[in-house]
Amino acid sequence: MVDKKSQTLKENEKTIEELKIENDLLKNQLVQKEHEKEILETKIDELIREIAQNREIILEQEKTQIKETSSKKKAEIQGKKVKKAKKKEDSKVTEEFKPDGRIAAKDKIVEGTSRRKCPICGNSNTHLIREVTDKSIIILDYPKVYGKKFVCGECGANWRVVND
Ligand SMILES: [Zn+2]
Repeated sequence: MVDKKSQTLKENEKTIEELKIENDLLKNQLVQKEHEKEILETKIDELIREIAQNREIILEQEKTQIKETSSKKKAEIQGKKVKKAKKKEDSKVTEEFKPDGRIAAKDKIVEGTSRRKCPICGNSNTHLIREVTDKSIIILDYPKVYGKKFVCGECGANWRVVND
């Protein structure tokens, strides 16, 4: 009985010893796992940061793309606007010319007060003012003497001087 008891005690001690060793082993493993966990967490952090960076890069690229497209569109729109404005200006010029006879002045002779100044556009550069014979005005029948008119090289107006 004593023998058996001591046997059991010895066995128990052995088991305790074994369990202790196992416990140490598990402790070691736990430390290792803890270490692995730390490494993995660091990796996860790195990946998250990388993802964030990539997202930023992509967003930046998208932004620049959008900017480029929108600036292109803006330029297109601006170009169209400029074209429209030009067209408007052109038509404005034509329209402005009509009421005060500037367009008609090309075919019609208007009256002016000076041979050195265009009565339509105010051009006073004598190099741009031509003096020509106006066959619609006959000053003398025999010998034929025609009147004179002036042509503006700037706006094309034809005028006769009434009071020079
Ligand atoms: Zn003129």
